[in-house]
Amino acid sequence: MVIRNVRTLIRMNTIYYEAHNNLYLNLTNRCSADCVFCIRNFADGVYGYDLRLSKEPTTEEILEALEGLDLSNYREVVFTGLGEPTLRFDVVLAVTRWLKSRGIRVRLDTNGHAALINPELDVVSELKNAGMDFISVSLNAESEEKYNKLCRPVHKNAYREILDFVKKAGEAGIPTRVTVVKIPEIDVEKCRQVSEELGSEFHIRTLSEAASKEIRGNN
Ligand code: SF4
Repeated sequence: MVIRNVRTLIRMNTIYYEAHNNLYLNLTNRCSADCVFCIRNFADGVYGYDLRLSKEPTTEEILEALEGLDLSNYREVVFTGLGEPTLRFDVVLAVTRWLKSRGIRVRLDTNGHAALINPELDVVSELKNAGMDFISVSLNAESEEKYNKLCRPVHKNAYREILDFVKKAGEAGIPTRVTVVKIPEIDVEKCRQVSEELGSEFHIRTLSEAASKEIRGNN
């Protein structure tokens, strides 16, 4: 019993995991949205990794973990996790600087709420100055009304802020991708148009198996 508990604890606090030849960093389980399709509602993690954190890792703990890895094995290091990385913006910036000083490519996967979460900062300039190579933003709706219904953001003007964030990141010279989850409620082609207007790349994501099962089960 005790052994099982210890194992669970170790598995729960996954700071990083490997997939698609990338290294993914898990900074937080918190988020400024509550998407109906969020993996957090259906599973404890992805690719067999339990991403529940009993404690969010400090910058020092993340760097210590990264020091022990051969980072040249990965195409890129990605801030993602079972939550929104920009809720820990100072950690994202510090770890990005550390990685860039070692010549590692870095990507941020985000819900695009960074400016709402960190209103005191010029978040795009901060990311640019830290050396962020690429930003992938979950849009997931062709309109504000749809976004509020599907993603249930904490902040009022979240959808407009996401569009602004993508536009500013592009203008700052950070290559940016807009993503949508493939579910019937989302008009993917209209989202593609929004993405084109923003000058962003576009990517359709497949819903996690756990979320698909749960949503199908509720229909
Ligand atoms: S933005 Fe991402 S982490 Fe946040 S609730 Fe939506 S799917 Fe989950």
